[in-house]
Amino acid sequence: PTFADLGLSKATLATLDEIGFERPSKIQAAFLPIALSGRDCSGQARTGTGKTAAFTLPMLEKLDLDRKVIQGLILAPTRELAEQVSQEMKKLSGGRVKTVVIVGGRPMGPQVDAIKRGAQVVVGTPGRVMDLMGRGQLGLENIAFAVLDEADRMLDDGFRPDIEKILRKCPKDRQTLLLSATMPGEVEELAAKFMKNPAQVDM
Ligand code: AMP
Repeated sequence: PTFADLGLSKATLATLDEIGFERPSKIQAAFLPIALSGRDCSGQARTGTGKTAAFTLPMLEKLDLDRKVIQGLILAPTRELAEQVSQEMKKLSGGRVKTVVIVGGRPMGPQVDAIKRGAQVVVGTPGRVMDLMGRGQLGLENIAFAVLDEADRMLDDGFRPDIEKILRKCPKDRQTLLLSATMPGEVEELAAKFMKNPAQVDM
């Protein structure tokens, strides 16, 4: 298929053309139609397969870019990955979405300032996201779209309690996507607990 076959908006198709994405990757072709329909979806995919665009594009289609509140949340296991996802999101949105990277090991001040300046998407590691939430600096009440990226790795790193507390603070009527290189029982449990009748895409 082409990207146009998958149900993306004209604005997104124009950006994909500009940045030289010619054809959807395998996971994108399988994942995008389901995620764009609004359904919760979990996908088994490794880095390098185009998984970031698979969950970023549906989020971009759903965000209301005129609203300067946090509507999207992406949790990732490491600072580096959070940074990469944020960069990819900027690229895929043509710079139209305001993202903030919320990760540990860096001063909180600039992260809090970016939230106050009207960030629309948070990309972060569970520990620091929890921390700012607990301090009342990060409200999740407008989240319409949540993503767990590299879920297996986040669970291996002991982030399960944080992830659960964070997701419980997000509105129930959100859409939730999950990406994981492997699907052990623990990941399936997390999906069963926090996703609504998720479709499963394996690559
Ligand atoms: P990821 O697996 O999400 O880390 O993506 C790996 C790399 O492939 C990134 O640099 C993406 O920008 C790029 N990429 C993802 N999907 C496509 C596509 N359909 N066409 C061209 N490049 C892509």
